[in-house]
Amino acid sequence: MELTPTSEDEAFRRAARDWLLANRPAGPAPREGRASRDYATDWLARCHAGGWSGLAWPSDYGGQGLSPERLILWYEEYVRARAPSALDCTFVALNHAGPTVIARGTEAQKAFHLPRILEGRSIWCQGFSEPGAGSDLASLRTTGRVEGDVLVVNGQKIWSSYADIADYQELLIRTEPGSSRHKGLSWVICDMTLPGITVRPIENMAGVTHFAEVFYDDVRIPLDNVVGDLHDGWSVAMTTLAFERRTAALALQLELSVKVEDLIALADAPAGSATAARLADLRAEAAAIRAMTWRTALREPATPFDGSLVRLSFAELAQKVHRAAMDILGPAGLTDGHWSHDYLESYSETIAGGTAEIQRNIIAERVLGLPREPRA
Ligand SMILES: Cc1cc2nc3c(=O)[nH]c(=O)nc-3n(C[C@H](O)[C@H](O)[C@H](O)COP(=O)(O)OP(=O)(O)OC[C@H]3O[C@@H](n4cnc5c(N)ncnc54)[C@H](O)[C@@H]3O)c2cc1C
Repeated sequence: MELTPTSEDEAFRRAARDWLLANRPAGPAPREGRASRDYATDWLARCHAGGWSGLAWPSDYGGQGLSPERLILWYEEYVRARAPSALDCTFVALNHAGPTVIARGTEAQKAFHLPRILEGRSIWCQGFSEPGAGSDLASLRTTGRVEGDVLVVNGQKIWSSYADIADYQELLIRTEPGSSRHKGLSWVICDMTLPGITVRPIENMAGVTHFAEVFYDDVRIPLDNVVGDLHDGWSVAMTTLAFERRTAALALQLELSVKVEDLIALADAPAGSATAARLADLRAEAAAIRAMTWRTALREPATPFDGSLVRLSFAELAQKVHRAAMDILGPAGLTDGHWSHDYLESYSETIAGGTAEIQRNIIAERVLGLPREPRA
């Protein structure tokens, strides 16, 4: 694997750096609600005007068609410039809903949704998880009954990030009566303003309402909104999850090194002290995550399950870094709004996008070739 940047790569990196430094918004992003949406969509609109939105999307659909190398170069500059979190409310649309519509949607769906996403005019959320169907997504029970040219949807989703401020939801429901597990599901574009939808925000332990429960009470969704074939939603959902896993943590993984350097500066630990040794370990581990990120992105042929190795290592290191920050800050950590907030949020790293146990199962079965766990 060749990691020496070409002169074109260096020129790209400089262009990204210059643009980000000139255009990143001043001041912190609001953490929730309408204000967070306005902040994120303004930033995306500015990125779009500057030619920096839809970075990995094909150019035929308005994207920049960047290679994996260039995408990482962009995110390295992005986190260095301390640009707004790449995991804001535009994330779902840009990183997995939009790409799923590109891969599996109709021309009408593409023509309507893709420009709106790229320009920051529509926000999407994901409605996959249900109470009782998280790690085991195939046990989901929300139904869609075909009635003429609509699906009548009833049920409940949970943990739907940004559902309270989203325009559309990528919704996975059971549409074939009597079906079970992976069969008989459909992936549907749900307009969040439809009658019968109730969104109930959930406050997390950091005191922020990022996600919500969503209830569907005879919600009538046009059959034209099905992406892929009716009853073939599992394969569409796998497309979505593949996009999500490819990009979800890229910026966060690279940002961890920046956070460790911030912590080292904050700690100002004397050379040879136990704190200095602890920070040195964290710096080395963050460098390893960066190397794994590059390796996973550039490996040919692509080995999708390697993503679980990086994801798990990143999630556990993120928790260690924030734990160290709280130890170093001591009582000041209780009033510091930045590190204490991120510390509490870091607990979700080993849950969101597949729990640590599920990642370990994937690594055991798909990477190490150990026996599969017994199925019920
Ligand atoms: C910050 C955050 C944002 C999220 N955003 C969204 C979103 O936008 N849309 C959405 O649909 N969902 C979202 N989720 C939900 C997320 O996908 C689920 O929380 C996750 O898949 C785990 O499902 P669960 O919470 O139902 O836990 P469960 O699946 O019930 O797991 C409970 C415990 O059992 C363990 N476990 C389960 N199965 C196994 C097994 N086979 N082997 C070993 N251990 C096992 C798990 O590791 C976990 O420790 C989000 C979650 C978080 C934390």
